[in-house]
Amino acid sequence: MADAATTVGSVVRPTIAAAGPGTSPASQPTLVSGDDDRTVVVLLGPPGAGKGTQGEHLAAALGIPKVATGDVLRAAVRDGTTLGREAQAYMDRGDLVPDAVILGIMKDALTQPSTARGAILDGVVRTVPQAEGLQAVLDHLGRVTTIVLVFVIEDDVLVRRISERTVCDSCQTPYTGHHTGDPCPKCGGRLVRRTDDEPQAVRQRLVVYHAQTAPVITWYKTHGVRVVSIDAIGTRDEVQVRVLRAFSR
Ligand SMILES: [Zn+2]
Repeated sequence: MADAATTVGSVVRPTIAAAGPGTSPASQPTLVSGDDDRTVVVLLGPPGAGKGTQGEHLAAALGIPKVATGDVLRAAVRDGTTLGREAQAYMDRGDLVPDAVILGIMKDALTQPSTARGAILDGVVRTVPQAEGLQAVLDHLGRVTTIVLVFVIEDDVLVRRISERTVCDSCQTPYTGHHTGDPCPKCGGRLVRRTDDEPQAVRQRLVVYHAQTAPVITWYKTHGVRVVSIDAIGTRDEVQVRVLRAFSR
């Protein structure tokens, strides 16, 4: 895959030059576009590719927070914000929380002082409508998507990797490298595989992932955002080096 897309925003300079704590959290007034220090990274990748872990490493390296949809959603519900209560109502009915509500919560998160210098967005964009919605939010805040990182891993490798996960059916400790039916090293309970981790279920999720993600990648490229593929096979450190390399030019 050639990544010849135009670069919007610019190279990340992980210097600490932002207004420190002590600035008023109430208003985030001057979000002017074109500020090089405000990096917005969008992470894409199939389940099990390790993008959450890599996102955390990257957050530490760049000195900006990782903002994951699940986390901000839980926080909004816990804090009882207007949108959090709205989200809760959907969940209470067993419905999915609509994109508009999620994006509203994301917008709140992106106006916090903690994200003033940038953010790494994990799980925020899975579909083209979500990419468009995020773009609208960023436009409103005078920010741009700096880079999209796509974690690439072969389906077979992923299916094998995920099917190696087991969990204790009594103490719920997760394991890798054990077999189903083995005794739990901690409590002697029985190790089982979660239904979600069965090869059939993983393949089904991957079909959905590929069907949704390919158009998202195309969307970003046609909107002039730099898209970089990261080979996600290897040790955590090996993959981390590849991730950081995407920022070092
Ligand atoms: Zn156990």
